[in-house]
Amino acid sequence: MTTATTADRYDWAGMVCGCGQPATHVPELLIRLATEGEASGITRDSFEGHLHIPSHTYAPAPAAISVALAALADPDTPGAARDVLVDLVFTTAFVDCIGHGVPEGVDLEEECRRAVTPGLEALYAEIASGRSAATASRAFWIAEGTDEDASRVERVRREARHLLWDACQTPWE
Ligand SMILES: [Zn+2]
Repeated sequence: MTTATTADRYDWAGMVCGCGQPATHVPELLIRLATEGEASGITRDSFEGHLHIPSHTYAPAPAAISVALAALADPDTPGAARDVLVDLVFTTAFVDCIGHGVPEGVDLEEECRRAVTPGLEALYAEIASGRSAATASRAFWIAEGTDEDASRVERVRREARHLLWDACQTPWE
């Protein structure tokens, strides 16, 4: 599924963004980043206050994770965009505290984890590409924290050792 069709699956207007507005500008940012790469001027900081702040995660995070991982799975997505997308998923996937605007009864932590699962293949492919050790290491930590197939995580930890930061060799508690 392409980035745009993945984005179309969500009711962004019905989500309260971290900035307090309806979240329709979030998929616009993600799609521009995925298509224009560095030239878009969109960086990890562009999402702060919308998807997350250092201590809180906001309602559009699970949908944004799905779109970011769809963009990562697209071979046409430029490298600079891939770095930002993986960083963004890494920052939002593990929820400490839930920010304002998340409807009662929504388990944001569980929804973020569920949003990562279909993108695990794309994360492993990003690691195997050998493109960037920093991005591969963040992709590995996302997989380590969400993949229920522990033997696959250990196999990648071993086999992709030369593509990952040394810190990835110590299991993340
Ligand atoms: Zn916003």
